[in-house]
Amino acid sequence: MHGKLRPVGSRVPLPSSVAVSMPWDSAYEAEYCASGTDALAMAIGLAILARPGVEKPEVIIPAYGCPDLVAAIVSQGAEPVLVDLVPETPFMDLHQLSEAVTDRTVAVVGVGLLGIPERLEELAEICNDHSLALIEDSAQCFPPHSTRQRVADFVVLSFGRGKPINLMGGGAMLHRGSLTGEQQRYLEGLPKEKIQTGFLWRVKRVLFNLLMSRIGYLLLERVPGLGLGKTRFEPHGVVTRREIPAGLLSAGLKHQSVRSSPHVLYEQELQCLERAGWVLLGRERFRTAGMSAENPRLRFAVLTPDGATRDEVVRELNAAGVGSNGLYEVALPGVDGIPLSKPQHEFPVAADFAARLLTLPCHEDVTGADVRRIAGILRAVGDLSPG
Ligand SMILES: *Cc1c(COP(=O)(O)O)cnc(C)c1O
Repeated sequence: MHGKLRPVGSRVPLPSSVAVSMPWDSAYEAEYCASGTDALAMAIGLAILARPGVEKPEVIIPAYGCPDLVAAIVSQGAEPVLVDLVPETPFMDLHQLSEAVTDRTVAVVGVGLLGIPERLEELAEICNDHSLALIEDSAQCFPPHSTRQRVADFVVLSFGRGKPINLMGGGAMLHRGSLTGEQQRYLEGLPKEKIQTGFLWRVKRVLFNLLMSRIGYLLLERVPGLGLGKTRFEPHGVVTRREIPAGLLSAGLKHQSVRSSPHVLYEQELQCLERAGWVLLGRERFRTAGMSAENPRLRFAVLTPDGATRDEVVRELNAAGVGSNGLYEVALPGVDGIPLSKPQHEFPVAADFAARLLTLPCHEDVTGADVRRIAGILRAVGDLSPG
């Protein structure tokens, strides 16, 4: 095979001339912004304003996740508080979540990791008991679960590279439309920029999309110093709102909804590995969340029996021209430079999850032949590992 299959990401669409309605139009109002991190920072800013008088506010997040979560929280003067996961799942441990709530907690962030929605109804019960804002971080998950069940107070979307809708950047913060005057003033006080999809934008789009081809990605990976996909902490700058053309959003939505679903074949091909201690993540949750089995996923997520197996599979797949990786590789406390001030416990489950998580490409260029070849490599490694 020539070139390399990229691990994640879909092509940037051309703006469409007709604007369609967004899946959240009936339940939420949208404030568009420069990125998913900006959207999360805005949601946290609003949650802080909803609880006046709380000094040093705290925001609860899972101990395994995107370092941008921490950047967004810190940018609003709040402190991240981590909660460990339920074993063999990407979900927060609800008991530990309840224990982590203090009178300084203002919000809980439920993250739809890799397209698997959090159990937001259960998080909402805890949030209601303590008057906390529930934020659904749906940067990796589309459509957001709250568009089916209007359960979160705020929803975060990202339109960045490697997200379900790629508009070369941007994001959205959805809210219920019942903001206080002070919350409205906070939003209106944020700078706002405008995106133009003129000639330069179109040239950039063509280049972006070229780099997604198998040859393009192989070349991109060879550029030294790019550090593609490396996990690091970057502080967040000024929270910025953004006007995104309706035709561009509409095109992004359409592209996402007609995307193929290679994960259905992955599930068939990899099911046999479950007997050997591998876990195919998400299937059960898709049923309980009422999602279509065909709903496109950002990446196909698997837990290998142990970290050594994960590393071996990643090596073999990459050697065979398949971009595959362990996403963040470490739990949040292990990320270089991460500013966690509140004393944190150990997070053994998140650390185990980080060591065993394997992500497989699941975008529109993954063919049935690719899935079979990838599955063959995994099965070969699975048979060799003891037990
Ligand atoms: C990528 C991501 C973000 C941040 O989105 P950007 O648009 O990259 O700023 C936030 N949360 C999660 C879960 C993400 O995956």
